[in-house]
Amino acid sequence: MRCPFCACDNTQVKDSRPTEDNTSIRRRRQCEGCGARFTTFERVQLREITVVKSNDQREPFDRAKIEQSVALACRKRGIAQERLDQLVSGIQRQIETLGDSEVPSKAIGEMVMEGLHALDSVAYIRFASVYRDFSEARDFEEFAGNVRDAGHKK
Ligand SMILES: [Zn+2]
Repeated sequence: MRCPFCACDNTQVKDSRPTEDNTSIRRRRQCEGCGARFTTFERVQLREITVVKSNDQREPFDRAKIEQSVALACRKRGIAQERLDQLVSGIQRQIETLGDSEVPSKAIGEMVMEGLHALDSVAYIRFASVYRDFSEARDFEEFAGNVRDAGHKK
């Protein structure tokens, strides 16, 4: 594993343990070149998945991208990291069990929205407002209104 700091190819595993939900292995590594420490995760990948974007570009599925958008939507909402990890793991499992090697980015976006909807309404609106790229403020208000209504039904 190459060091992300100095690009040296020799790094040593210092510690290796399963994460709390036992779906991945977390390894602490140290670079033999510059001494920097960093963490890597080993996760099950059932198949190679390609994400098809709306402009028809294709890129390999990257869990980190979902993690980033979920983290951004949930910023300062006081939600435990563990719950965010569970959410992302759940989405990854859904994608892997679809059985398709190509998944539209739109479908992933919908899964994230669904997951956030159940988790936190503010995070949901944040994500949806970016994801759906509202062109008119009215649309967004209408949408936020729907979210509020949905909340009352609980
Ligand atoms: Zn290094």
